[in-house]
Amino acid sequence: MKQINHIIGGTEVVTTSGRTSPVYNPATGEVTANVGLATIDEVDLAVETAKDAAAQWGATSLAKRTAVMYAFRDLADRHKHDIAALLTAEHGKVLSDSLGEVQRGIENIEYACGLTEHLKGSFSQEASTDIDVYSVRQPLGVVAGITPFNFPAMVPMWMYPNAIAAGNSFILKPSEKDPSVNMLAAELLDAAGLPAGVFNIVQGDKVAVDRILEHPDIKAVSFVGSTPIARYVYTTGTSTGKRVQALGGAKNHMVVLPDADIGLAADAAVSAAYGSAGERCMAISVVVAVGSSADPLVAAIKERIPGLVVGDGTDEASEMGPLITQEHRERVASFVENATGEGATVVVDGRLEAFDGDGFFIAPSLLDNVAPGMACYDEEIFGPVLGVTRVDTYEQAIKLISDSPYGNGTAIFTRDGGAARRFQIDVDAGMVGINVPVPVPVGYYSFGGWGDSLFGNSHAYGPEGIDFYTKAKVVTSRWPDPATSSIDLGFPQNV
Ligand code: NAD
Repeated sequence: MKQINHIIGGTEVVTTSGRTSPVYNPATGEVTANVGLATIDEVDLAVETAKDAAAQWGATSLAKRTAVMYAFRDLADRHKHDIAALLTAEHGKVLSDSLGEVQRGIENIEYACGLTEHLKGSFSQEASTDIDVYSVRQPLGVVAGITPFNFPAMVPMWMYPNAIAAGNSFILKPSEKDPSVNMLAAELLDAAGLPAGVFNIVQGDKVAVDRILEHPDIKAVSFVGSTPIARYVYTTGTSTGKRVQALGGAKNHMVVLPDADIGLAADAAVSAAYGSAGERCMAISVVVAVGSSADPLVAAIKERIPGLVVGDGTDEASEMGPLITQEHRERVASFVENATGEGATVVVDGRLEAFDGDGFFIAPSLLDNVAPGMACYDEEIFGPVLGVTRVDTYEQAIKLISDSPYGNGTAIFTRDGGAARRFQIDVDAGMVGINVPVPVPVGYYSFGGWGDSLFGNSHAYGPEGIDFYTKAKVVTSRWPDPATSSIDLGFPQNV
């Protein structure tokens, strides 16, 4: 059985914990590897190694750092099919989706390649008489990332390219469910010329996470995962004095106004709800059908579902793969099971489709008349279950979204530019799509939700990512003639 180990200081380190976690091929249900879970001492070793590396790497010229990032970008692009294949084998999403994920990850490497521009300070000559003032951004030292199973390649790439480009060393604690893609990323970083110890991987669970959160030499932690753990990571990490950005779960609403093109909206809802089997934090999980849009929209979504091909992600014909584990599949099925009792209408029941073998498959489900107070509305299902909530007015749609504790992404479908403009002003969410159902910002903007979808002030990647991984310094400088020097106990004035 394949054993997946840590990467510390450029070499594989086998855990001494005696604890492992199984890695499945979700399409077959087979265990394909075991990942060794870290001890506290192994996290400490990674931090010590990263700290030594950061001292050198942070002092390496911008030109050399840029060259490494460009080389890494080229290698990641050249190996994108290998990364995607590893991703599908452990996550289950279909190959084209995996490739899309890798491509969106590479966008973040490309952004990091512009580090000379991002790290430029400003300079004010003669801010006061004979005084110049300038600002610089310096690396923090050792920073860490803790990432979820659902985007095992892209979400770490939201973090480490910018962190490393800014001169930090990085410790990644990936999801224990699909760790292999990052082992390949470590090889590619090494091949790109990144010095050993700048990028480290610690495999692990809560033991590793807790040690990362309390270790005094880790200066900042980026977390992406479910809301309860995000809240815990933020509270614990900030209580030990760290910078923390903790991105949590979501329940994303897509509003469809009566004037929308129903076919276009139905295509978008099906793509955004069932893509990646709904295991996306930006998936649409609730369609808010306003007024007369509801009946034709539900009919159009229902009509499209039987055409979706659910199967092994390595099969080119498959459009939707399995869920990550059998346990998660059962949880997702339970929301459909309980929906009728809660007052919703099960329009399509994905549990009824049978699959050969032991893969963790469930077909898409569609629930109508879903409302707040029902578990299928309130909770993040994180599976291929789309709910439709019917409202009479635009104002009711806005209130529904405002009342949701989450505020990650949202979208509106309409042909009315004025209504769309008003929506993007009114709505309580960090990322808004106008006739775009999954509005994940490009790599040169930043990603983050509101409410329980993000703890901390800083969004991930883009300009906010660079800010998060650096600290600002402002220098006030004067080169006076000693002959003119005198004592002045007054507070310095700008003259
Ligand atoms: P998760 O919260 O279970 O795990 C995330 C990370 O936390 C993993 O590395 C895991 O090992 C660690 N972890 C799990 N339990 C822990 C505990 N008790 N103490 C400390 N660490 C713990 O999330 P997941 O199931 O891997 O991923 C799916 C979730 O992530 C969904 O809720 C999804 O919405 C969310 N997500 C959010 C975003 C976003 O940008 N907001 C992006 C992707 C995924």
